Amino acid sequence: MAVEMAKQKLITRETALLRVKPDQIDELLHPSVDPLAEKKAVELAKGLPAGPGGAKGRVVLTADDADAWAKKGEKVILVRTETSPEDVHGMHAAEAILTAKGGMTSHAALVARGWGKCCIVGCSALNINLKNKSISVNGKTIKEGDWITLNGTKGRVYAGQLLLLPANPDHNKWYKDLMTWADQARTLKVRTNADSTGDAAAAIKFGAEGIGLCRTEHMFFGPDRIKAVREMILSDTLEGRQKALAKLLPFQRKDFLGIFRAMKGLPVTVRLLDPPLHEFLPHTEKDLRDLSRSMRVPFEKLNSKNKSLHEFNPMLGHRGCRLGITYPEIYAMQAQAIMEAACELSKRKVKVIPEIMIPLVGHVNELAAMKKVVISTAKEVQKRFKTKVPYTVGTMIELPRACVTSTEIAQIADFYSFGTNDLTQTVYGLSRDDAGRFLPFYVENKILDDDPFITIDQQGVGAFMKIAVAQGRKVKKNLKLGICGEHGGEPKSVEFCNNIGLDYVSCSPFRVPIARFAAAQAAIKEKQGKKKK
Ligand code: PEP
Ligand code: MG
Repeated sequence: MAVEMAKQKLITRETALLRVKPDQIDELLHPSVDPLAEKKAVELAKGLPAGPGGAKGRVVLTADDADAWAKKGEKVILVRTETSPEDVHGMHAAEAILTAKGGMTSHAALVARGWGKCCIVGCSALNINLKNKSISVNGKTIKEGDWITLNGTKGRVYAGQLLLLPANPDHNKWYKDLMTWADQARTLKVRTNADSTGDAAAAIKFGAEGIGLCRTEHMFFGPDRIKAVREMILSDTLEGRQKALAKLLPFQRKDFLGIFRAMKGLPVTVRLLDPPLHEFLPHTEKDLRDLSRSMRVPFEKLNSKNKSLHEFNPMLGHRGCRLGITYPEIYAMQAQAIMEAACELSKRKVKVIPEIMIPLVGHVNELAAMKKVVISTAKEVQKRFKTKVPYTVGTMIELPRACVTSTEIAQIADFYSFGTNDLTQTVYGLSRDDAGRFLPFYVENKILDDDPFITIDQQGVGAFMKIAVAQGRKVKKNLKLGICGEHGGEPKSVEFCNNIGLDYVSCSPFRVPIARFAAAQAAIKEKQGKKKK
């Protein structure tokens, strides 16, 4: 209606753009549960709406089963207490993912959203019994193989199979017109968070104007790669780590070649390694025994090293640039892979714009040290390839200390990207992994208007962002500023980013159209606000 009315000149295009809700754009991009069927359905439980859209499938409780059942042609929903990198093959095979634990930035949430897959996390009513292959939930029992339906947009789990309405934006001419007008109205750029060639290509189709976050740890999830990562983490010696890194280098180089190519000369921000260690450590004796054989290290020794790496709070532990500071060879390998891919393509006249990003910087010295490693590695590669590819080195701003010492950090950084997942965790003192247990209660009971991991807390987290922007731009007038936390695809947060003067937002591929649309609405509201003044 809005588009037709604008075409008939009954309203302006700007009014048409403001009449459509970003959520309505979202509905067009994913299959959705039929609202009539949903009204009559038996609700089993509620959780956090981590990946939008609807999905139905038969319950499976392990990633291997999800994979095996899907190969037999079954539609399955993978139900886990929480997920880890070892579950990725099953998550991929499943129609949707449902977890009992975890928040909006948990492993399951990030991975599913990246793929545009329906996902509900933090569904604490689920009690999963792996032995009996059953789940008890609010007094009911669901067995392996039973059908359930998820509404990932609302975070609702239903018994049985509900009717799903298909997504079909490509055949919707009104959608196409609206998005064309949105792109004309907005000033904020929209990038994507992508860490594979497939995600990058999908995001380009959705209108992404670059990659704002390539999480390199996500490139290590494959079974052969995760083994090399574990070898690297568990090695006691530089020699051992370098041996493992040498195995990872060709994988990384190949991945970057694919991603740079898919992005067709648009900027690509590659973030150097930032895994919370617990996501990568081996959990089973079998994995440890395998590693002990391939590393030729006695099982007992490896087991005690594995135990010694246990952290009480991995999210605030040995991750981000702290890994690079203690093991610079890791970041050197990654910088080498990025630059080798860039130089190879540049020699073949393919345009590449690499932006290398250092995570979890709290002190300027951390960034200075890591930038030095990147620059010296890049120099060596460029000399070897006899070619020069311009690149920049910037940082994530995701700790309060980085915000308030932005005057110093901006002197070293070529760009900033706000990591608002960690910034919310650290400004608010909320654990990303645990807050999902009580934040829905806060929102339901109006203690908070919104979950701060979904919508930026403008008063608190936003205040820190504003400090970083003001100090950073005072040092460098044209300092490029973006956001790559999950808020980058959420409409209210996109408006906030527009209003504080960021250059771009970055979000998962399926949220790119929503961010483009929200950016247009923000620009129109800003313009109208200025006119009123
Ligand atoms: C963030 O912290 O906002 C971010 C994008 O990084 P990650 O979620 O990988 O910690
Ligand atoms: Mg982070």
